[in-house]
Amino acid sequence: MSERSNRKPSLTTRVAQALHFVEDGTGAVIPAIQPTATYARDENYEVRRPYWYRRDGSQTTAHAEAIIAELENATESLLFASGMSACTAVIEHLPTGAHVVVPKVMYHGVLGQFQTYAAKARLAVDYYTAGDLDELAAAVKPGETQLVWAETPNNPNWEVTDIAAAADIAHAAGAKLMCDCTGTPPNLTRALDHGADISFHSATKYLNGHSDVTAGVLSVRETGKYWDDIALIRKLQGTVLHSFDAWLLIRGMRTLFLRVERACQNAMAIARHFDGHPNVERVLYPGLPSDPGHELAKRQTSGQFGGMMSIIVNGSEQHAIDVTRFCRVFYPATSLGGVESLIEHRKTVSGDGFPVHPRLLRLSIGIEDADDLIHDLEQALARAFG
Ligand SMILES: *Cc1c(COP(=O)(O)O)cnc(C)c1O
Repeated sequence: MSERSNRKPSLTTRVAQALHFVEDGTGAVIPAIQPTATYARDENYEVRRPYWYRRDGSQTTAHAEAIIAELENATESLLFASGMSACTAVIEHLPTGAHVVVPKVMYHGVLGQFQTYAAKARLAVDYYTAGDLDELAAAVKPGETQLVWAETPNNPNWEVTDIAAAADIAHAAGAKLMCDCTGTPPNLTRALDHGADISFHSATKYLNGHSDVTAGVLSVRETGKYWDDIALIRKLQGTVLHSFDAWLLIRGMRTLFLRVERACQNAMAIARHFDGHPNVERVLYPGLPSDPGHELAKRQTSGQFGGMMSIIVNGSEQHAIDVTRFCRVFYPATSLGGVESLIEHRKTVSGDGFPVHPRLLRLSIGIEDADDLIHDLEQALARAFG
């Protein structure tokens, strides 16, 4: 065969075609959903591999995992029924009393889990300011710390953490680095390539992209006992992603590259427009050259900056809440990474005790017309401050 016919298609092509799926026998280019909860043993009464019961997973879920493993440049990926169940499996696999280091501010559900585990003395938790590597280095305990948690870009202020540097700090202490990169999906940030040991994404967000599935995925390059333990937790707790949701996820990922590219463009246009706006104190978006994480984000997120940003409006907390009430195009809803744009008053959503600026609005920018989104925020700000 000539070199030309041996050319391996790009990742964009592979993902758009769900790894060039063709069904044996029929030639169907779209996979069927395999919904079975149990599998018959063979004629020798042997268990057939690799599944014998739904909690092991299914062909449909494995197909979605194979696509994500390619996206992540991973050897294995495991899909869970939500991002939280994936994160909780990692937390749960740690031995009692294990020392972990986590950001002071991050996705509120994960932070809440660490606080709960710490309160029960199940884990010993120390904290660092997201993105601050000196604080991280001071918080790890060599020979003792087992896990360092990083979220980049970090909810809801979008600080960027240098994954490679954080991995060096974790590894020097004998710890693993777990990286939550949900804000920039693996076509932008491949955490394993930067040195993370476990890459996590809430696939509810960009990977699925249509706000109709909850899913979470862990990806690793090095497997081993810890990975088997995590898989066993998924199996025993029954938190594997179900086939119908895996099928929707496979469909959603076909357009991942297109959706994310558009969301990044829209986000940049919106950030530029509202940076310096008379009703806006600050725009938090690593895509702005003035943002402290800009240069690092440029290197770490493939020259794009994602679709997530926050704005801190002037005035009072009520002004911020009013802006979400007055939007007509943005949905006043939580979550992120869908094709539709969302706006939320983060303090209301995160609840009491979570450190967030009271006038911060978190925006998930979708794939709509950028001018419609800008106009919507303009009219909502005008009404709130009118
Ligand atoms: C949404 C989210 C999670 C939790 O994922 P779910 O799918 O909602 O359970 C974790 N981390 C980040 C950064 C998220 O945005």
